[in-house]
This record gives sequence, C-alpha cells and structure tokens, in this order.
Amino acid sequence: MADNIAPAFDAFHPPEQELIDDCVHCGFCLPTCPTYVLWGEEMDSPRGRIYLMEIGLQGETMNDEMVRHFDRCLGCMACVTSCPSGVQYDKLIEATRQQVERRYPRSRRDRAFRALIFRLFPYPRRLRLLRGPLRLYQRSRLGTLLRRAGLLDRLPVRMSAMERLLPTLGRMEAVPAVTPAVGQRRRRVGMLTGCVQRVFFPEVNAATARVLAADGCEVVAPPGQRCCGALSLHAGREAEAQAFARAAIETFEAAGTDQVVVNAAGCGSAMKEYGHLLRDDPELADRAAAFSAKVRDLSELLVELGPVAPRHPLPITVAWHDACHLGHAQGIRAQPRKALAAIPGLEVREIGEAEICCGSAGIYNLVEPEPATELGDRKAASVLATGADLLVTSNPGCLMQIRTALERRGERLAMAHVAEVLDAAVQGADPRSLLDRR
Ligand code: SF4
Ligand code: SF4
Repeated sequence: MADNIAPAFDAFHPPEQELIDDCVHCGFCLPTCPTYVLWGEEMDSPRGRIYLMEIGLQGETMNDEMVRHFDRCLGCMACVTSCPSGVQYDKLIEATRQQVERRYPRSRRDRAFRALIFRLFPYPRRLRLLRGPLRLYQRSRLGTLLRRAGLLDRLPVRMSAMERLLPTLGRMEAVPAVTPAVGQRRRRVGMLTGCVQRVFFPEVNAATARVLAADGCEVVAPPGQRCCGALSLHAGREAEAQAFARAAIETFEAAGTDQVVVNAAGCGSAMKEYGHLLRDDPELADRAAAFSAKVRDLSELLVELGPVAPRHPLPITVAWHDACHLGHAQGIRAQPRKALAAIPGLEVREIGEAEICCGSAGIYNLVEPEPATELGDRKAASVLATGADLLVTSNPGCLMQIRTALERRGERLAMAHVAEVLDAAVQGADPRSLLDRR
C-alpha cells in the first residue's frame, strides 16, 4: 500500500479540465471498452476514469484504488472511436499516466518488473544479445518440457506471461541501409525498423522494404536509429519518450526523406504524437510537429501512392485484425483492407467484436496478464469464427498475443503481417509460404 498523494495531480500538465468537460456522461463508449466489457464496473470504464480524473483535479488524493483503475486501462482508444462528443481520452490518459509515473510510489516488485521491461525492450542491441540464448531454448524444446513438468506455472505470473508470448525465432534478416526503388523512383522514404520488430520479426521489415521498393520507393533505414519511444510514451514515462523522440527526429531528418514509414501500429501512433509530446521544447516543437505530419503507416502510404507493381493471385481467405493503435488511435481502417483487396483471389473477412482490444496493448499483457489473457481468449474465439486461412494484422504485439491465446485453446492458425502478404503477392509466391507458418 502506498501513501495517499495529495493532491492527486500537480500543476505540470495534469489532465485538462476543458477536455474532461467534453464528456457528457452518455455512456456510448461503455460497450466498446474492454475492461468494462470484462467487469461491468463503472470505474473501469472510460466515463468512470474521466470521473476519477475530475475528482483528482478537485483535490482528491491519488491512492492505490485510483491508480489501479488507471493501470487497468489498456490505452486501446476504443472509447475515442465510439465517443459521439469527441472526448480526447487519449490526451487525458496520457497526462494522467505521466502524473502517476512521476508521483505514485509503486511497490518494489512492480518497480523492478517495469525497470526490467524498460531497460530491455526499447534497446535492440540488448534484445539481440538475448536472441541467441532464446533461440537455443526454443530449439532445445526445453520450454515444452518445463511446461509439461508444470515448472513454468511456478514462475511469477508476469514472468510466465513473458515466456509464453515469445514468438518462434527464425533466422536474422537485416534490412539494407538503402533499398533502391524498382523502376522509376516516386518517393524517398525513411523506414522505422523498430526494436521488437527488428529483433524478433526481421522478416516483416525485409518484406516491408521489398514492397515499398516494388511500388517505387527508395527505402532508407538509418542503421543508427533507436527506439521511437512508443512503449515509454504509452506508459507515462514522459522524459524517456521525449529523449527517444528527439533522437528519432534527428536521425530521420539527417536521412533527408520525404516521409517516414512505420509497420508497427503502436510505433506509428506514437510518432504521430511527437508534436504534442515535444510541445514545450522551444527548439524542437515545430520540427516535431512537421516530423509527425510526415509519418505514415505502411498501408496508408501504399494506398496514398497507388500500386505500381502487379499483384499476383493469392487464393486465400484472411481475417483482418485492426490493431487498436492503427484503427482507434490513427483512424486507419480502410487502407489495409484496400491494399489486401487489391490482391486477386484474396478474400478479406471481418472479425466479430473488432473494436475490442486483443489484450496486447504495448506492455499491458506483461503487467496485467490476467485481463490480457481473458481478452486474448475472447479475440482468439472471434478470429477462429471467421473460418479464415490466415490472420493478418499490422502490429507485432497483436500477433504474439493472439498466437498465445490460440495455443491455450490447442489451436493453430497461420499468421502474417500485412507487409508479408503484400510481399508474397508482389513476388508471386506460393500461398503455402504464408499458410504453412503455424
Ligand atoms: S482506452 Fe480502452 S481500456 Fe482505456 S478506457 Fe478507453 S476503451 Fe477502456
Ligand atoms: S467519453 Fe464520450 S461516449 Fe463516453 S460517456 Fe463521455 S461523452 Fe459519452
């Protein structure tokens, strides 16, 4: 138990009263909020959390219970999509989380676990050091043996969640610093290679660069690029996120590209927020806003450009999963569907309850594994109900989360990033190259 912090919020960027006042308490957001759907508790709904922010501004203390309700929010932004009054819950929860992270003394165990996450995941070099031992662990099937013996269940629940979410690691595939455009160059684009994406899903980055090049983009992937700061930003670690954002702006400005393309929904959404994140920085505020305006999700850019490379037929059915940070946070829903529908023979199927988060949500499935598991199970059932051959999405976290949920049910389904499906169509690959990846 932490002491009560009074008042809940200090004067540095508290949640803004004017944004809170936009909420008319209508409750339209409640059925789309995953935590409200799970528990039916008002204080675990967007409306309830906004109420807690309001009483915090009025002088209520920040206590364990209040922080629990904020911590349980996935930051999925389904409430932003469903709110008819245009409440900017994204800005409100971001400001609230920054106050919590600065002012609330978490337990020693919680601090240690969060420190582990934030000293590891935003650093590709550190992740790469782990890759070899983890690959050995997977190939030796030690994990399967430990699980069968029930030993993994004896790990703290957060550690066993981390173990289960680990994707099967294949061979490394680096993206060149510059990939020339095929045919006439239409754009010169910078490419964020990401942290988890670069180390655990290098094949997705390779496919992204090939597809962009095929559609006339010269792709620049600056080798020195660091984390975009998405995990830190979404967890309220403002200073850390700002440092990553400054470095990203410098790196991509130096690369001299027309746009910056991102193939991970959470990263794209964070980079589009740099203008807001660095609004107090006298030197960088304008540059950050200009940078954010250049950021594009992969599907967004491809549809904006229009295809040049012919798409070969892929006679498969795919279930398209809207990652929350693509659909809700960036409002990008039509573009990936349009890019996929342009592939001859490919049928896109919709997933029921598409607006409800799969439970991945950045680090949510690591720090809140129980509700994340329930949401993952719910999503897995909806995905299987489509009867599709392949699950396609745009976020590495969602792929790991849904695969783990399917495994819990004893099911397997081929999965791919949208870049890999487009790449297979451009290359004229055998559909089995996608469907055999279970
Ligand atoms: S961001 Fe998601 S979990 Fe949080 S209040 Fe909104 S809908 Fe609910
Ligand atoms: S956040 Fe929007 S949808 Fe939810 S209660 Fe407030 S006004 Fe209604």
